[in-house]
Amino acid sequence: MFRTHTCGELNTSTIGQTTTLAGWLAKSRDLGGLTFIDLRDRYGLTQLTFNMDTDAALCQQARGLSREDVLQVTGTVRERENKNLKIPTGEIEIIVTELKVLNHSITPPFTIEEETDGGEDLRMKYRYLDLRRNIVREKLELRHRLATETRNYLNDQKFIEVETPVLIKSTPEGARDFVVPSRMNQGQFYALPQSPQTFKQLLMVAGFDRYYQLVKCFRDEDLRADRQPEFTQIDCEMAFVEREDILNLFEGMVKHLFKTVKGIDIPELPRITYADAMRLYGSDKPDTRFGMEFVELNEFVAGSEFGVFNTALSEGGKIIGICAKDCASYTRKQLDELTDWVRDPKRGMSGLIYARVEADGSVKSSVDKFFDQEKLQAWKAVCNAQPGDLILILAGLTDKTRNALGGLRLEMGQRLDLRDKTKFSALWVIDFPLVEWNEEDNRWYAMHHPFTSPHPEDIHLLDSNPAAIRANAYDMVINGWEIGGGSIRIHDRDLQSRNFQLLGFTEAEAQEKFGFLLDAFQYGAPPHGGIAFGFDRLCSLFGGADSIRDFIAFPKNNSGRDVMIDAPGPIDEKQRKELGL
Ligand code: ASP
Repeated sequence: MFRTHTCGELNTSTIGQTTTLAGWLAKSRDLGGLTFIDLRDRYGLTQLTFNMDTDAALCQQARGLSREDVLQVTGTVRERENKNLKIPTGEIEIIVTELKVLNHSITPPFTIEEETDGGEDLRMKYRYLDLRRNIVREKLELRHRLATETRNYLNDQKFIEVETPVLIKSTPEGARDFVVPSRMNQGQFYALPQSPQTFKQLLMVAGFDRYYQLVKCFRDEDLRADRQPEFTQIDCEMAFVEREDILNLFEGMVKHLFKTVKGIDIPELPRITYADAMRLYGSDKPDTRFGMEFVELNEFVAGSEFGVFNTALSEGGKIIGICAKDCASYTRKQLDELTDWVRDPKRGMSGLIYARVEADGSVKSSVDKFFDQEKLQAWKAVCNAQPGDLILILAGLTDKTRNALGGLRLEMGQRLDLRDKTKFSALWVIDFPLVEWNEEDNRWYAMHHPFTSPHPEDIHLLDSNPAAIRANAYDMVINGWEIGGGSIRIHDRDLQSRNFQLLGFTEAEAQEKFGFLLDAFQYGAPPHGGIAFGFDRLCSLFGGADSIRDFIAFPKNNSGRDVMIDAPGPIDEKQRKELGL
């Protein structure tokens, strides 16, 4: 037997036993007559002890070893004198009688410990060493548990996992495709799937009824901390369902994951319409771990001489406030900082108006010149502001103002420590608009994707007022992250054609790109709908981290590179010729 135990399982109940362990040398200490080595494997650390008095040769050999050497040792489990109660094996040590070096390691480029001296770049280049670190390995273990529990739940609900192809043709999900040249069909390209959307719909036409897949998807987008060019979805589709069925089933899935993986019971998910989410939080993925909801002040500011408000009013815009608890003591400097923050070109506001509620209940504002105490008291009342609170107000065109105030709300939430990573607040956002107008391209774009069904009662607006059509689409949002999104699909060929038309496809283009789906819809397509969850994001949410990168074994960096294998890279002339490039 290579080993009888792992480095994580010996304890006081195994004292006296003979054991054989294998692992990596994490650390060694020489204390004159004694040498200690911490041996590491996936399961933990075990202390090995060598005694100069009892076996000088073995002790000398142990002293000659270096970090990350691979060892196999045999010895006896003994109770330790200096116990380390922080680790499960901390009460015992192994008195080694045999030592075999299985392989040597050269000096690693960074220390393989909880706190490492290796920077991000170095750790990514030697990711296999980074993965030896406990905290990194634990993240992948969490990922594995989440995947397992996802499969357990969906399998219990009669879903079957079906693999869909990776070499496909482009499906418009709003991002750029990665393409792969075809050698056998020169001049032609496959696209890598942005999602298996059309395939899962075809599986419903095929009668599979309930499908899921933990699946790699590919989108050639500019990268941010929470984006990777290849990422994993929990992709699901169901036939003969209404929105209600899907929301309930997947609410159940997320509850199951929180319960089994984190031991947390999360409450029923509130549902909020897209329109309300924008009105109350200025975002379609609100962080509801804290309130600080928007209060529209238009009717409370009319009739003044204050230009900023009057311009907003005359342009049909909005004057919106939030109430920051206990922030009336903010200094000039802090308020200037917030003002600069909203003036940043990204947010583009002209300024920030504030009103403090003093201890005696009176209100002092940056626009005292224009509003008397009576008016200010009315603001205080609608904002439900108490003595000690600070009301922050932005004014301008509706979308821009909501967007900037949504950002400011998150910023204040951050400053006030209201975005606790150990708290979880999940909700559904429903009734998204079906389409949004793009000024640049002068056309409508699907807000979710072109296969999303309009609300039945809004279908009559397809020609007359597309902007007002609500989609039968939904997102699951947790702590301000869009964790999942999906919709009830169109299953009627004619409606699908009309929708393509609305999105600017000619009949011929629609046939060329999606003929297979339109054809399939003629052979008895059942009503169906589905959802996909961003699995990497879900993992980092559960792990309390900001970046999804840590939860991916071999991630890409911000420029989409794998710095370990050095990809992407050039291909040689012969390959290029073969591909006709
Ligand atoms: N395919 C969609 C996406 O990737 C999800 C869905 O509608 O099921 O966002």
